[in-house]
Amino acid sequence: MTELPPRRRDEESEWHDLVPFACPDCGCTCFHAADDERIVWEPGRAWAESGADRDCHCHTAPVEGRLPA
Ligand SMILES: [Zn+2]
Ligand SMILES: [Zn+2]
Repeated sequence: MTELPPRRRDEESEWHDLVPFACPDCGCTCFHAADDERIVWEPGRAWAESGADRDCHCHTAPVEGRLPA
C-alpha cells in the first residue's frame, strides 16, 4: 500500500497536495501546497514535543491555506 500525501483545502476550497517544511522560527512542521508554495498551513496548537516555542506566530496566529496578503 502506498501512503497518499496529505491533502488539504485552501480558503477557496481547492484541494492541494501538501509538502512539509520546518517553521524557520520554531522548527515545528508546517505545510505548503505542492503546486504553490506561497499557500501555507501552519500548525496552530499542534506544537512539536521538543523545545517548541509556543509563542511563535505559527501557533499564536496560524495561517491556514491562505495566500499572503
Ligand atoms: Zn513557528
Ligand atoms: Zn513551534
